Amino acid sequence: MVDAPIVLPEAFWELHRGLPRQGPGDDASTRRAFRALGRLPERPRVADIGCGSGMQTLELARLTRGTITAVDLFPELLEELRRRAEREGLGERIATLQGDMAALPFPEGSIDLFWSEGAIYLMGFEAGLAAWRPMLQPGGALVCSEASWLRDDAPEEPARFWQDSYPAMGSIETNIARAVRAGYEVLETFPLPGESWWTHYYAPISERLPDLRRRYADDPENLAALDAEAGEIELHRRFGRYYGYAFYVMRRAD
Ligand code: SAH
Repeated sequence: MVDAPIVLPEAFWELHRGLPRQGPGDDASTRRAFRALGRLPERPRVADIGCGSGMQTLELARLTRGTITAVDLFPELLEELRRRAEREGLGERIATLQGDMAALPFPEGSIDLFWSEGAIYLMGFEAGLAAWRPMLQPGGALVCSEASWLRDDAPEEPARFWQDSYPAMGSIETNIARAVRAGYEVLETFPLPGESWWTHYYAPISERLPDLRRRYADDPENLAALDAEAGEIELHRRFGRYYGYAFYVMRRAD
């Protein structure tokens, strides 16, 4: 999907650098999804795709005794994850890998658990499920959180936003059907609590926005990046009951 390094405007990085995470989520939801999985090998081989700076990677390392390969496109985020892992004494069980989720290098059947929070939309839910399945051990698990419609009567504004940014976004029912078609058994789904958009993500971004907007007032490219984020936050403030993130806890059906 991504062939060349992506260059994001500097303001984007200034907005996100050092934040606890790069998308909605929280440790309690990570734990809830993990518990819904049931049995895993004693030391599972885990891959966390689109790990960002790794809030959920660290939680997974606390929850399992296995090894985790944390994959992201951006070295800067992986370095931050490494620092956090070392600080917590979890560095030995976490390996970072810079790469594209659409071209993962894992051999067939070599992963016991794929994990991906707030990232599979970047290649599309169905495409991700299909591409990663062969790398899973038969009966292995895939857990992801994915932007999902929570109601079917969304007003035009959020409907248009998502039509532009992620037209394939489905309801939870739609995604369950997609998962079954892709060869998975769906063990559980649940929407993330509304606060998980704010506490570790939108709230710290909102705090940084005013200063950055002043600083980049005469810089259209950077200002546009800031405006896009502000618009997304405002949309969620007004229409967040119509869409959200949901966890999908699945196993490869064989
Ligand atoms: N899981 C983290 C980050 C979610 S944001 C969290 O929940 O906080 C999505 C992440 O996917 C970002 O870190 C981004 O750098 C990464 N990403 C974007 N495109 C990617 C690709 N093609 N392959 C792998 N990672 C990608």
